Amino acid sequence: MKVFHTVAGLRESLNKDRREGLRVGFVPTMGNLHDGHLALIKQAAESNDIVVCSIFVNALQFGLNEDWDKYPRTYETDCEKLRNAGCNYLFHPDDIEMYPNGLDTQSRVICPTMTDVLCGASRPGHFEGVTTVVSKLFNIVQPDEAIFGIKDYQQLAVIRRMAEDLCLAVQITSAPIHREADGLAMSSRNSYITAEERPLVTVLKDSLEWIAAEIKAGNRRFDALENTAAARIVAAGFKVDYITLCNSKTLDLAADDDLEITVLGAMFTQAARLIDNLSITL
Ligand code: AMP
Repeated sequence: MKVFHTVAGLRESLNKDRREGLRVGFVPTMGNLHDGHLALIKQAAESNDIVVCSIFVNALQFGLNEDWDKYPRTYETDCEKLRNAGCNYLFHPDDIEMYPNGLDTQSRVICPTMTDVLCGASRPGHFEGVTTVVSKLFNIVQPDEAIFGIKDYQQLAVIRRMAEDLCLAVQITSAPIHREADGLAMSSRNSYITAEERPLVTVLKDSLEWIAAEIKAGNRRFDALENTAAARIVAAGFKVDYITLCNSKTLDLAADDDLEITVLGAMFTQAARLIDNLSITL
């Protein structure tokens, strides 16, 4: 695996690969890699000749009181994992390389309305940071295909929409949610969960599964389902950010006649904010 810290260095290698007709797959990450990330790398390797992974903890997508400074950075072990997973190029820029003109005057990419709800409602500016950095990374890597996890459902939907709206020549592919043995969705932020909380946090996934089962059984009282699930999470000792049923494509609130519904949830532990989701086709 070759490691690049500069845009110019990565571009030079990729230009050469492209001239040889090689297909490029791309997996953007913030590092602290777990098996969920590595599954994306393996998926990228199946349908591409060159797999590029980026590790960049993007300050632009973190709120002022969020965990940018304490986000786990595990560069050496990440490199080892990427090598074993079949990654060809790692792009690991620093803040100056990505934002040479500073953050405040950085041009932005905005995907309106869809980013105002769910995680966007409790993390103002977050998705603007995501769409901006992903656009920059797409322009740097110019991948044929980019792979994103369904774990971050809203992010995936926003990026698909951005790619469609801006006519980006990249195929956006999704990858299934990787989970721990008890069902907790893998996340770099799971390290913030305390030992006491750990057996209880599966309440989020269990609540989403309960809602999905109710809907499949014909229950259409969406508000009541959301409220009951939220109460269950509170009873387990956590604070609910949202439990919401959405149209899977638009992320509008689910309507009675929607055939594709996604149940999305976010809750706070003492030090982590956990998200999960489950899609249903009726
Ligand atoms: P992150 O490093 O958290 O920004 O995530 C980088 C990519 O990995 C994103 O596309 C995420 O959706 C994806 N990802 C993170 N956790 C998981 C998981 N448990 N299963 C599948 N994909 C994941």
